[in-house]
Order: sequence, then C-alpha cells, then structure tokens
Amino acid sequence: MTHDVIIIGGGIVGLATALAVLEKRPGAGILLLEKEAGLARHQTGHNSGVIHAGIYYAPGSLKARLCREGAEAITVFCAEHAIPFETCGKLVVATDALEASRMDALFERAQTNGIAVEKLDAAELRRREPAIEGVGAILVHATGIVDYKAVCAAMAAELTRQGGTIELGTEVTAIQEKDGLVTVAAGERRWTAAKLIACAGLQSDRLARLAGLAIEHRIVPFRGEYYRLPPARNTIVRHLIYPVPDPALPFLGIHLTRMIDGSVTVGPNAVLGLAREGYPKLSVDLRDMIDLATFPGLWRLLAANIGSGTQELANSLWKRGYLAACRKYCPALTLDDLRPMEAGIRAQAVMADGRLEHDFLFLQTEHMLHVCNAPSPAATSSIPIGRMIADRCFGAG
Ligand SMILES: Cc1cc2nc3c(=O)[nH]c(=O)nc-3n(C[C@H](O)[C@H](O)[C@H](O)COP(=O)(O)OP(=O)(O)OC[C@H]3O[C@@H](n4cnc5c(N)ncnc54)[C@H](O)[C@@H]3O)c2cc1C
Repeated sequence: MTHDVIIIGGGIVGLATALAVLEKRPGAGILLLEKEAGLARHQTGHNSGVIHAGIYYAPGSLKARLCREGAEAITVFCAEHAIPFETCGKLVVATDALEASRMDALFERAQTNGIAVEKLDAAELRRREPAIEGVGAILVHATGIVDYKAVCAAMAAELTRQGGTIELGTEVTAIQEKDGLVTVAAGERRWTAAKLIACAGLQSDRLARLAGLAIEHRIVPFRGEYYRLPPARNTIVRHLIYPVPDPALPFLGIHLTRMIDGSVTVGPNAVLGLAREGYPKLSVDLRDMIDLATFPGLWRLLAANIGSGTQELANSLWKRGYLAACRKYCPALTLDDLRPMEAGIRAQAVMADGRLEHDFLFLQTEHMLHVCNAPSPAATSSIPIGRMIADRCFGAG
C-alpha cells in the first residue's frame, strides 16, 4: 500500500507537520514512524516548557514571525484540547551596566517585533519579584508555560482520529527516492509514499545522508543541564526569570523556569555532548564521538568559542560555578537548592566552517523534505512550522 505521506519523527515538529498536512489535504493517508517506544522522548520531552513570545529574533526574520504566530497557535490548540498552560510572563533581568545596555537593545528589538514589553527599574523589579536582584528588567507579558509532552499526546490523538497511523518502536534504516515514490525501510519492513517528510531532530543529518542528500553540516549535540528546586522553593518567583543574553552566544542562558506542574527548574546550560541521546552526565557514544571528531566544523567552532565553552564545561562539572551564575540574579539560592534532574540535548546544526546555524534549515527534493535544523523556539513555533512544511510539499494556498 502506498501512503500519501510518510513522516519520520514523533517529536512536536513531526506531529504538527502531520496535522498541517491533514489541514491542507483532509483525508490524506499519513504514516508517522518513530523509533522510540513513545512520542516526544528527545528534545520535545526534555525542554524548558516555555511558550516564547519572540523578543530575541531579528525583526522581519522567519524565526520572529513563526514564534509570534506559534505562541498564539499553541495556546489556541491547548485551549481547544483542555491542555493546561499559563501565560505567566517573563522578566529578562540585567545585573550590571553592560547587561543594562544590552537590555535596552533587546527592548527595542522586542518593540520592533510587535511584542508587548514593559521596562522595570530596580525598585519595581524588587516589588514584583522580591527574591530577584537586578538594575532593571524587561517584562514580557505574553510568555507562557506548558508541558509539550501533553501537547504531543493531544496532537497524536488528533492525528489518529483523522485516520493517520503512528508506528512506535520503528527506526528508519534506509530511504530511497525512485520513480516518483519514496521507499522507507525499518529493518525488514518497507513502506512507500508519494512524499517523505523527515523531522528527526538529533538524527536529522544522518537521515538526510541515508536518503542520499549531499550535506555540509553536522548535528552537534549541546547538553542543557537543569536542576530542580525543592518544593519549598516553588513560590520563589512569580514570573520566569531570564538573564540578558550575550548576543555573541546562541543560547539564552540559565533561567529560573516555573513549570506547569508547579515546580521550578534552573537551567539549561550549554555543554558539548559526547552522545546525541545519552542523558546522564558524562554519557559517551562511540559513533557520535567519531562523527564529532572527524568533522572539521566542530574544531573550528571550538577554536572560536574556547572561552565560553570552557566556562560552560567548568560550571557543568562544578556545581558551585553553576550556582554562581544563578545567584547573579537570585542570591537566595543555595547549593542544597540545586537538585539534579534529567538533561535535555539540543540538536544544533553546525556548518563546515564552524558556524552555528541559528535558523531553521530545510532540504528538499521532488518527493522529500528534510528538517535539518529546528532549534529553540521550535516547540513554540511548531504549528506554523508544520504549515510551512505542508506548503513547501503541496504548494501554498
Ligand atoms: C534543553 C532544551 C530546552 C528547550 N527549551 C525550549 C522551550 O522552552 N521552548 C521552545 O519552544 N523550544 C525549546 N527547545 C527547543 C525544542 O524543544 C525543539 O526545537 C523541538 O522540540 C524540536 O522538535 P523535533 O520534533 O524537531 O525534535 P525531537 O523532539 O528531537 O523529535 C525527533 C524525533 O525523531 C525521532 N527519530 C530520530 N531518528 C529516527 C529514525 N531513524 N527513525 C524514526 N524516528 C527517528 C526521535 O526518536 C525523536 O522522537 C528546547 C530544547 C532543548 C533541548
């Protein structure tokens, strides 16, 4: 039997894409293949659970537009499917003069992006968040929190309700585009489809190569390590608390995040991982390490970021260093407050020249589309990303 579309990957991008295809082609025969025994077992199930408003991204960029549209679409989806979410707002806190000047630039960018923001002085910040210290802050009203695993469960239910099939525990091991069709194999099993859409996150470069695409980038895993505060600290903050990001670095910095289950997490940092899917600290995977070591782009990246990379690694290995980063804006935290929890691992596309790809990256042939980079905030933006992919595969309109 030939399917209309095969989707590889049961993370939020694969699931949102499946629903977007059905929106465009109601009744289309969709098969979604996921290698794990459950959905959202990788990036989607190990993230901060933030619905980003989109203040950080270059005005007019795809990322800015998709984030703004995505935040609205996710909250509508949650409301329709009775998934708990909260628009609790976030504070981006400056702790010194350099951060205050970066904060001013961020404030302007947020306004250009059409996002409602408010500037707070030190006294107003302290009034709203007594445990947080800073010289000022930006309040972003629209930022929210949600459990993206719950969103995925609802998306999967919707997909099967509309006739789609999900096969768990099915790892795609071969892909061939031939005679107007794509054949996909998982061990001895085989399926064919008119279109293949691969949304494979940490394995996306391998699937692209498996399909015969010439790619110059490689996925480099960046661990995001978190701690969870003890329940007695669950009311330490009312908003999400973020540092002002260093514009030279790609990630947002260690933040205090209220989770939708009522707990508060601290993190994530950004440390080079030696295993794409190894969550415990110091996990090593031989194949992943060989892939990293033989990729010149990684060495160029490391050489260009030796200072920040070493600092992140030191803070990962030495809890006091991690604590110091949080205490810059939340001095009440102690070592005892930082209780380890499972890390997340970001799939970051790095180009051969060592450049980090910050934007979404898609590679397309006549019958295939490979999502090769879907960095944060791709969980927030997943619904419009899915619609954009469906447009690319089946034409807009
Ligand atoms: C630490 C961290 C914090 C983040 N915080 C946020 C946040 O707060 N808000 C936000 O919007 N975004 C956040 N992000 C980003 C967001 O989580 C990701 O961009 C998003 O989840 C990517 O979804 P995905 O479906 O592309 O990938 P994934 O969720 O990784 O899904 C890919 C799927 O493909 C499957 N797969 C891989 N290879 C195969 C194969 N051969 N056969 C079958 N299946 C296969 C995998 O098992 C996996 O389930 C964060 C990410 C991390 C890591």
